[in-house]
Amino acid sequence: MRRAAALLIAGLLWPAAPLPAIEAKAPPAASAAGEAGESTLRRADLRVAKVAYRLALAGRPLCPGAWPLTGMLFHHLAEYEVKDRPLMVARYGLDRGPGVLSVIAGSPAARAGLVAGDVFLAVNGAVFPSPSEIAGIRERTVWRRRLEATERQLEDALRQGPAELLVLRGGSELRLRLDSLPACLGRIRLARSDQTNAFATGTYVVMTTSMLDYVRNDDELAVVLGHEMAHDILGHPATRSEEGVLAGLGIHASNIWKREADADRFGLRLMAAAGYDLDAAIPFWRRYLGKFDWFPQIFRSHPSLGARERIAADEIAAIRAGQPWRAGI
Ligand SMILES: [Zn+2]
Repeated sequence: MRRAAALLIAGLLWPAAPLPAIEAKAPPAASAAGEAGESTLRRADLRVAKVAYRLALAGRPLCPGAWPLTGMLFHHLAEYEVKDRPLMVARYGLDRGPGVLSVIAGSPAARAGLVAGDVFLAVNGAVFPSPSEIAGIRERTVWRRRLEATERQLEDALRQGPAELLVLRGGSELRLRLDSLPACLGRIRLARSDQTNAFATGTYVVMTTSMLDYVRNDDELAVVLGHEMAHDILGHPATRSEEGVLAGLGIHASNIWKREADADRFGLRLMAAAGYDLDAAIPFWRRYLGKFDWFPQIFRSHPSLGARERIAADEIAAIRAGQPWRAGI
């Protein structure tokens, strides 16, 4: 029981703690919940997307490199459970291309005229890889890589400037022109799961519906998203590395602790830039982590709650004093 709890929190604290059960489950809008459940999930998607959008856009001066932010959330046939796929094909035409799950008002995607339910067929004349083919791949790491390549195809086009999109909507094809804004890396997925968790894959942030239910407001949501986005933005390792396994045994943990401290601190910087309440951070960590903080430090891959509170308090003081961001302190 205690062991399970420790593994569970590791996901939030540890970049890309693998949670295959979550990755294998359908992301939002799968059919099982029915129409009402689906619209609830759509609202949840949009809420997460909006907070991530604010963090990515406002944090831009802090971030290395620019990522083309459009203000929409994708979904792809391969992300749905096999039993839900026929419905997603019938309802959205997700066998034709990657789909738009939600669009943030006022974003470049909204200005382009994109709406939830649209399907992308081509960008600048280049068609997207077949979703059915990708969905047919059994090996998770392989289809994930192909799916991410699909999303990058659009991003690469947008880096060159406004892109010409061929879009499928209600059985008709239309052409739209999509622009983007330079921002911090902020690819987000909301996964339907009863595990209260979030993690970074190195390229994406995945947050569970249970974690979304757990946060009390958007400031706390920004704490979680800011921390995980920071892992991806700062280029922290994507998967459970050898180093991570060693750290789990209490060996060479200091690098990982340093990364976690940096993710906490950089997440606060993103929050401050986006105007979220920094005072939400420490109470959130106390509530979320406090009950798990018994675990012997040597066996853990992350600093203790007390250490994280000090790190957060110091960074908040530095932000309020107008001190610039410094990595690795
Ligand atoms: Zn972390």
